[in-house]
Parts: sequence; structure tokens; C-alpha cells
Amino acid sequence: MTRRAKRKAMDAAPRCGARTRSGGACKAPAVAGKKRCRMHGGAEGSGAPLGNKNAVKDGKFTREAIKERRAAAERFRIARWVLSKELRRKFPG
Ligand SMILES: [Zn+2]
Repeated sequence: MTRRAKRKAMDAAPRCGARTRSGGACKAPAVAGKKRCRMHGGAEGSGAPLGNKNAVKDGKFTREAIKERRAAAERFRIARWVLSKELRRKFPG
């Protein structure tokens, strides 16, 4: 293939179209037989992790973590309430 022919083939190749960090679409040519370019999942091991793992930083706000914190807070509330009752009973006034 001549350089010109290669250039033509590249230009005619389907584009990747993955959303980029700047919000636009990736315009790199897709890997042959794939829908994405070599950076965006066309190549083995490339692209974003499965699911939305990019959004998870420390798991502090997962459903489970929030539930756990609320349950702990509730236990503290109950403990405080019981303690305050007990203290009032022992030391009235
Ligand atoms: Zn791409």
C-alpha cells in the first residue's frame, strides 16, 4: 500500500466515538473489526473499567457504607438516651 492509499484508508476508517474527558467524541480510527480505537477499548486491556468504577473513590458513599453509618448513629442515640435516663434516676436534680 502506498502512503497515499494508507492515508485514504485511515481517513475512510470508522471513527471511535468514545466520549473524551473534554466531552467531545474521540475521532481516532476504530480498531479493525471493533467499534473503538486502540485507547478506548479496541485493544486488550484498554478502555474504562466495567461498570462505573471510575466514579468510586473510597467507597465512603456506597449504599452499604451509608447504611452502616446510619445504623451506628442510631445505636449511639439509643445508648445516649438510656444513659441520660439512668443518670437522671441516680442523680435527680
Ligand atoms: Zn477512541
